[in-house]
Amino acid sequence: MYDKNNIFAKILRKEIPCEVVYEDDQVLFFYDINPQAKVHILGIPKKKVVDFRDFILRLDQSTVQYFFTKIIDVINGLGLDQKGYRLIINNGRDANQEVPHFHIHILAGENLKGIR
Ligand code: AMP
Repeated sequence: MYDKNNIFAKILRKEIPCEVVYEDDQVLFFYDINPQAKVHILGIPKKKVVDFRDFILRLDQSTVQYFFTKIIDVINGLGLDQKGYRLIINNGRDANQEVPHFHIHILAGENLKGIR
């Protein structure tokens, strides 16, 4: 079940600030507070979805496609496609997913060998 008090829900309600990279009515991209690489962005859909499974199975295809297309737009907009990037989705306990609102990590800006 979705916890409406998770930290990303608070960010979406503007109760907690974040450094926005891109926002529209469906998605929010912002810088990770504890970056694991020179560029570390988090992308989230605005729908109340807990994890990857929830995101894929509960949302309609156009919403899912929109989210992934926006990832490309953000990456291209920052020129990160030139040298490469890594996308990470942590799903559930064994992956150490900390925040129960589906999100994707975009890591870039340096060679990512050894960074996960
Ligand atoms: P995960 O382990 O996949 O759930 O990742 C959660 C991420 O959220 C971590 O990389 C945290 O550094 C990041 N995070 C937690 N709180 C905030 C916040 N207030 N603003 C930006 N990023 C955050």
